[in-house]
Amino acid sequence: MDLGVYVHVPFCERICPYCDFAVVRAPQLAREREDAFVAALLSECERRLPLFGATRLASLYLGGGTPSRLRADSVARVIERVRRAVPASDAALEVTLEVNPSTTERARLPAFREAGVNRLSIGLQSLDDATLKRLGRAHRAAEGRATFAAARSAGFDDVSVDLLFAAPGQSLAALDADLAAFAALAPQHVSAYALTLEAGTPFERAAHSGRLALPGDDEVAEMLERVALRLGAAGFARYEVSSFARPGFESRHNRRYWERRPVLGIGPGAWSSEPPRADAPFGARRANERDLDAWLARVAAGGEGASGPPEVLDEATARGEASFLALRTAAGLDARRFAAEFGAPPRAFYADAIDELVAAGLLDEGCGGSLRLTPRGFLLSDTVFARFV
Ligand code: SF4
Repeated sequence: MDLGVYVHVPFCERICPYCDFAVVRAPQLAREREDAFVAALLSECERRLPLFGATRLASLYLGGGTPSRLRADSVARVIERVRRAVPASDAALEVTLEVNPSTTERARLPAFREAGVNRLSIGLQSLDDATLKRLGRAHRAAEGRATFAAARSAGFDDVSVDLLFAAPGQSLAALDADLAAFAALAPQHVSAYALTLEAGTPFERAAHSGRLALPGDDEVAEMLERVALRLGAAGFARYEVSSFARPGFESRHNRRYWERRPVLGIGPGAWSSEPPRADAPFGARRANERDLDAWLARVAAGGEGASGPPEVLDEATARGEASFLALRTAAGLDARRFAAEFGAPPRAFYADAIDELVAAGLLDEGCGGSLRLTPRGFLLSDTVFARFV
């Protein structure tokens, strides 16, 4: 069985007002604090990796938070430990590190590459200072450009950038300018997300009290269309709702989630997707403690950061997840693969939903019963997914 490993590093220079990830503000990361955190990561890794019985490591993803706030020697230790625990690594093992633009992190890029990182995901979000400021980001466009250039100088030839749109006060013209600037950088991959208001964040509170002006629904729909159009024209194929890549540069790690392949998550707030076994024929998932101190305490006590027993998936839940996760991708939901797992093609379970979504122009159904989002379905993907869960 092959495995993907996700490592969550919660530290951020400052907390962005829209973020609801498991994060900890750490403008400076003291050496002792970092060493204690990395020791806990290694300990959780040691304890949980063998339980998966993986024979091959397919991907390793260090996300956050801001994993590039770790020193390169810390990143090297994590990579080395994971690789040692699953000796047979995929020949094209993808090792991704999320990086935020800052001077300190920029200087570390060559050492990250030496440590074994071969793919960077840079949190640019925008190349417009006004948009970055309104998003509450710690960096500005010049730092973003400098980080991208430093990545190239360090020899990274697989670089993804994040684009966040529908930001407060952002116009369609401002988004157009951002898209042109992103295309001009010529990354291999773009992850593009519309800003969403997450419960309990400062942005959500400000929006509810009328202190935050966000683009309206029609404008956001137009922005979604514009993102797909402009990135498509710049040579990026949309292979998933939010993911655009040049041929051959699709994220191997993220693909695992859409295909429901096993992923071990270590670190605070990380999720694991466990493979099927006798007492969980449709697999299971497990969440780690989100709170850093609670996670550290759990790992110290028993080597595992999970906050409870695995959630065993029942057949209906697994079927719904298999459907909407596959429908996120341009390849869509393959009827034969679906039938091999659930005994019959999608129509046997979702006939009404399929008929209605096809009639509404949101879904295409192939002659074998395979399903794919239409271009309009990509724009209204949440409406489609809701019919399968
Ligand atoms: S840098 Fe990313 S992970 Fe950190 S607070 Fe901002 S949005 Fe959240």
